Amino acid sequence: MNILILGSGGREHALAWAVKQNPKCDRLICAPGNAGIAAIAECPALDILDGDAVTGFAVENAVDLVIIGPEAPLAAGVADACRNAGLSVFGPSAAAAELEASKAFTKSICDAAGAPTAAWARFDALEPAEAHVRREGTPIVIKADGLAAGKGVTVAMDEEAALAALEECFGGTHGGAGAEVVIEEFMAGEEASFFVLVDGEEVLPIGTAQDHKRAFDGDEGPNTGGMGAYSPAPILTPELQEQVLAEIIRPTMAEMVRRGTPYQGVLYAGLMIENGRARLVEYNCRFGDPEAQVLMMRLGAQTLDLIQAAAEGRLAEVAPSWADDHALTVVMATKGYPGSYDKGSEIRGLAALPETSRAYTFHAGTRAEGGRILAAGGRVLAVTARGASLQEARDTAYELVGQIDWPEGFYRSDIGWRAL
Ligand code: ATP
Repeated sequence: MNILILGSGGREHALAWAVKQNPKCDRLICAPGNAGIAAIAECPALDILDGDAVTGFAVENAVDLVIIGPEAPLAAGVADACRNAGLSVFGPSAAAAELEASKAFTKSICDAAGAPTAAWARFDALEPAEAHVRREGTPIVIKADGLAAGKGVTVAMDEEAALAALEECFGGTHGGAGAEVVIEEFMAGEEASFFVLVDGEEVLPIGTAQDHKRAFDGDEGPNTGGMGAYSPAPILTPELQEQVLAEIIRPTMAEMVRRGTPYQGVLYAGLMIENGRARLVEYNCRFGDPEAQVLMMRLGAQTLDLIQAAAEGRLAEVAPSWADDHALTVVMATKGYPGSYDKGSEIRGLAALPETSRAYTFHAGTRAEGGRILAAGGRVLAVTARGASLQEARDTAYELVGQIDWPEGFYRSDIGWRAL
């Protein structure tokens, strides 16, 4: 098979790494890719938000399957363009990707499906939203409706913070994404992520994970795209997974079918767990980054068979086989991230690191120059390892991190603390 992956992050490196291990994969292309991906796939320049450009490229190169990594091309309708061109594609239509692109859409689907989630209300003007906050009290959660790269959500512990967040949203801080605002009941508890593949009708669980959003040890500092993750998430017991499937995921997927916009691709359910019950925080229409790195390390080569089955509506015919083990990834970021940081510092020691099914360093923001690997982004590497226990996976990952010589980088030293 000729396979085209769209994206350039650690998630796409992990997808490419897993897909490449499957003997069915003849030619692997990842556009635009990064310096790490370039070692295992062709990385042509391609505007991945342009459906015509993607389909033109795929047809020209006899691509058998297009795998869409990030949310932006999904929201831009690239999966629709591929389907219309007769290509096999893994990823939801723009209409189904509304599950990530609009929080109010997701909440209304949850209501229609009876799925447990925080109580909510939507507003398109400041004054009624302020009145709602004063009426409901705090803590309360203010969300710009649209995609705001994780920056559109404020968990407000007091009224002042809530009102300030409302002013920001309606004042245009998040652009069009904040023109509508969803105000939610604050949910206490522990967060975890549940990943399933969906082929329209069928739902297939492919793993659980927990990530660390804050920049520094002890869950301190600003929010980031994610500084590390591990799989499985012990809090998502088999019983809880059944509850989530029965009460949240299957009913919402059935509601999508009922509305004429069936969902196809990976569905990432962000959950809040309290007193042994889960409620939905959000849906994402793609693998998480860095959650993909730990899921791919555990799934390996079968990832391609599962993804292909989802794309072809054959999920009922497949099942993942699980090794009873754990994976953990430590993200290395450029000092200054998530604020401003310098690009171009050299990372040494990567060539000596193991590249096996149990240890691999995925690249996110890197570029190659004259045989050297340079940092080219905020989150730069995801050092990932597998082990019989979470402790073993963690020990291996940190041992590898210790071999990387990059004074301009930083990482958290406590990934996995909650589960250990
Ligand atoms: P990200 O891209 O970082 O996942 P997002 O912009 O898609 O963020 P959400 O996932 O809806 O937004 O919210 C971000 C975070 O805010 C959640 O991971 C959770 O920690 C917190 N949060 C969101 N909604 C609630 C809620 N109702 N109660 C408590 N915390 C919440």
